[in-house]
Amino acid sequence: MKRWLICILLLLTVSACAPPPWNEPPLHEDLTIVAPGEGAPVKRMTVLLTGWSRGDLSHFVRGAEKTPLIIPIPAFLVERADGYVLIDTGLAPSLATDPSRYVGSFLACLAKGYLKRLIMRPEWAVPARLQALGVEGAQVKHVVLTHAHFDHTGANRAFLDATFHLTDAALDAGRHGGIFKGYMDNDFPPAMKIAPLDFAGTPPFLTFTGSVDLFGDGSMIAVPLPGHSPGAIGVFVRAPSGPTLLVGDAAYLMQNIAEPRLIGLTVDDEAEWDTLCRLKRLQEQMPELRIVPFHDPEVFRSLPTAPEWF
Ligand SMILES: [Zn+2]
Repeated sequence: MKRWLICILLLLTVSACAPPPWNEPPLHEDLTIVAPGEGAPVKRMTVLLTGWSRGDLSHFVRGAEKTPLIIPIPAFLVERADGYVLIDTGLAPSLATDPSRYVGSFLACLAKGYLKRLIMRPEWAVPARLQALGVEGAQVKHVVLTHAHFDHTGANRAFLDATFHLTDAALDAGRHGGIFKGYMDNDFPPAMKIAPLDFAGTPPFLTFTGSVDLFGDGSMIAVPLPGHSPGAIGVFVRAPSGPTLLVGDAAYLMQNIAEPRLIGLTVDDEAEWDTLCRLKRLQEQMPELRIVPFHDPEVFRSLPTAPEWF
């Protein structure tokens, strides 16, 4: 074959695989901030580390150099006067011992390479972490899901007595998005008690367009953070050590917010950019707010993990 033809074929192959071009629009400079006001503080909160995943910086920060990066996969536990609230449920307990129990033997075989990237132990799964803390599953009254990717929903089935708070779009993605897009329908059984989160017509909060006061006392407030996965949200928590905003995967790393720079995986680039601009503005205007992207190893190391609380 002629050399020029090989070059064209090679170019076509490369351009077919390359991510779509993305020209970052200017930052949104006109964002106003609604102060968080007063609200009841939660008793305390902690981080439950459910595993680590080996990855590459270029997966998390669009356009970054290829650099190996190991990221944490956490869930968060909040203690309130009337019980406990989980924010996400992390990796599935069976992934540590027998992945075929979670995804079936065919998929476990197909995804062998990916599963090898996960670092997990049985005692790291959320139910075991709670047991180590002396918290019974039945004491978890509520689970708030930032979005429906499997590394955030893996232990859902252990909390079917709790009420799950998530958007309809997230629930739909969880049930119908499919494992090849990172959703495990088995984590969303029909028996789940759902309290759908709907931001339509709700008041703005901080730099966000809507807000839902989850328990009516201002202690935990859900905000829309669209762009990464359908119906993604963040949760503002009035922790005793200071206000904290759990952003799920709306940013993988603080670097996504600080520059800002798009994350690797989005369902809507424009919406994700808008979310990052809102987070950046918030970080600049409210430095006392602790912003927590779930997969940032540096942020993770800065937070007390179970059995410590903050
Ligand atoms: Zn995700």
